[in-house]
Amino acid sequence: MSAASPITASIVLDADGIRHGHLRLPHSHDGSAWGHVMIPITVARNGDGPTALLTGGSHGDEYEGPLALMDLANTLRPEAMAGRVIILPAMNHPAFAAARRTSPIDGGNLNRVFPGAPDGTVTEKIAHYVASEILPRADIVLDIHSGGKTLDFIPFAAIHETGDPSQTEAARAAMEAFGAPHAMIMRELDPAGMFDTVAEQAGKVFVTTELGGGGTATAASVGIARRGVRNLLIHAGIVDGSIEPAPSRLLSIDHEGCFHLSPGAGILEPCRDLGVMVQEGELIARIWPADRTGVAPAEIAALSSGLLAGRHFPGLIAMGDCLAVIARPVG
Ligand SMILES: [Zn+2]
Repeated sequence: MSAASPITASIVLDADGIRHGHLRLPHSHDGSAWGHVMIPITVARNGDGPTALLTGGSHGDEYEGPLALMDLANTLRPEAMAGRVIILPAMNHPAFAAARRTSPIDGGNLNRVFPGAPDGTVTEKIAHYVASEILPRADIVLDIHSGGKTLDFIPFAAIHETGDPSQTEAARAAMEAFGAPHAMIMRELDPAGMFDTVAEQAGKVFVTTELGGGGTATAASVGIARRGVRNLLIHAGIVDGSIEPAPSRLLSIDHEGCFHLSPGAGILEPCRDLGVMVQEGELIARIWPADRTGVAPAEIAALSSGLLAGRHFPGLIAMGDCLAVIARPVG
């Protein structure tokens, strides 16, 4: 970890005022021998106070984060702030520019390679710079995700239970301030390599989201992101104003019965839609063979009772794809 990052910021990160620039990562390729990956960044600061790090586009096919954060970068006024906001609306910019989850340069999934490496792949270099240069400046982190091209979710903000109850409680308060229609306490399938994990291990108050999906955004999902970002900055004491309250239903994804994997390939017939309550054993989907008639579909039953919170988005599905996520209402 002693090697220096090859990334340089085109703006200073620690001065008052508002600045728009790029993180510049040298990238030599056929189209540009001495080219650079250029990752947009905005920093707004007014004196001492907490720092919020707001990130989107960790996966390049999720749009609520980039849209809400580009709007925020255009409208933040440092004179109405105390502290600092660092905005990275399209953190994995190569993936974002290609409308892909992963980077077309190296196949890297940014939210699986943290803490990265200064001498690794392009995606690992981005992760390393964010983890070693940006994250240490932050007190509170909001990483905005949605389902991308292959998943769709009911809109929720989410936190993890960390080992430190006061850290978890602070994250929960920030999640509730965000004010998404649902608030989720999540256990990840595999937390290794996630930004969430390194931020939480560094003691930061960390909130993430899943605000929709299908590789696009809606007026409603962008509205939730925009309101949530503003609410979070007010909650953190960085921006003046009053929180726009929004009722959140508390949910939990915390056991094996939440995740439903496809047992085979075929055409996905949803039998229940997102946002409905289902009972354990209830038929939630059928998978029809895509290559023949006269064969019965596979029937998928709910493994647990709860709210249908996530689903596979494309019409075709493969074995092992995440078909459905059922969340347990809390309280
Ligand atoms: Zn994502």
